[in-house]
Amino acid sequence: NILGKGPNDPRLEDTYRVDKQIGKGAFGVVRAGQKKSTSDPVAVKSISKAKLVCKEDVKDVQAEVAIMNLVAGHPYVVTLKSTHEDKEFVHIAMELCAGGELFDSIVEAGNFTEKKAALYFRKMVEVVNHCHELGVMHRDLKPENFLLTSKGPEGELKLTDFGLGVFFKPGERFRDLVGSPYYVAPEVLRKNYSHEADMWSLGVILYILLSGLPPFWGDTEDQIFKMVLKGHIDFKTDPWPKISEAAKDCVRRLLDQDVTKRATAAQILKHEWLVKEGVALDIA
Ligand code: ADP
Ligand code: MG
Repeated sequence: NILGKGPNDPRLEDTYRVDKQIGKGAFGVVRAGQKKSTSDPVAVKSISKAKLVCKEDVKDVQAEVAIMNLVAGHPYVVTLKSTHEDKEFVHIAMELCAGGELFDSIVEAGNFTEKKAALYFRKMVEVVNHCHELGVMHRDLKPENFLLTSKGPEGELKLTDFGLGVFFKPGERFRDLVGSPYYVAPEVLRKNYSHEADMWSLGVILYILLSGLPPFWGDTEDQIFKMVLKGHIDFKTDPWPKISEAAKDCVRRLLDQDVTKRATAAQILKHEWLVKEGVALDIA
């Protein structure tokens, strides 16, 4: 019993009708469904208990739920609706994001205009700022984990997948090598990091939003890691010559090898590029 549920807690099937699969991850599947009583849409992430092989895996699922509860209520976080547990699965029922992954919108568009990139990016930084203020580091920020509530311009951005999320204390150092190759920070590869690693990942995402290409790439994981550790940022290749100096400065402030100099989320929210692109801050 992972989430401490008893026999009297409602089962998934009591509350929701669940049908087609809409996503897949390391530990299970995500399906779309409806709440039986209201027909409200829902997404259900079902984590297979058979795949939770060690105590750490179990703790990670518990942390995922605890973090979703803690960061809930922010406009750019996927809302947790309820959790359920049966013999085979832990089920996480959450707000359905029918627009799919931001990743697919980037692939479709090639790259975004600066204005559109700034619009999305400000929201990403706001939600990461919210997490960091609450002492939560996401550790897997990438365009696959930012979802859209609907397709089209009214679609809102929502951060999801706190499966690698952890609570951090000031000064605490982390050593687990986790994340995704293109987005991983150099200090994570050196196994000595904290929440600044999320800001690096945001820098990689911003580079991709603006150019359609990852800043550090290679044919193998090792080659990608070598490029990350080298940290050279190519601003010469098309479309970078056409992109504003302010946007490039924003990327540079995030892809800084020196974590003590790297911009924090709060600093990026005041960066001239986000302010200049007409998306004035709605934080205090
Ligand atoms: P994993 O930890 O296995 O990566 P995620 O939580 O990222 O699991 O879910 C995997 C994929 O399922 C996502 O990238 C997305 O495509 C889809 N998905 C997850 N949650 C939702 C949701 N609330 N609404 C719509 N699609 C979702
Ligand atoms: Mg994911």
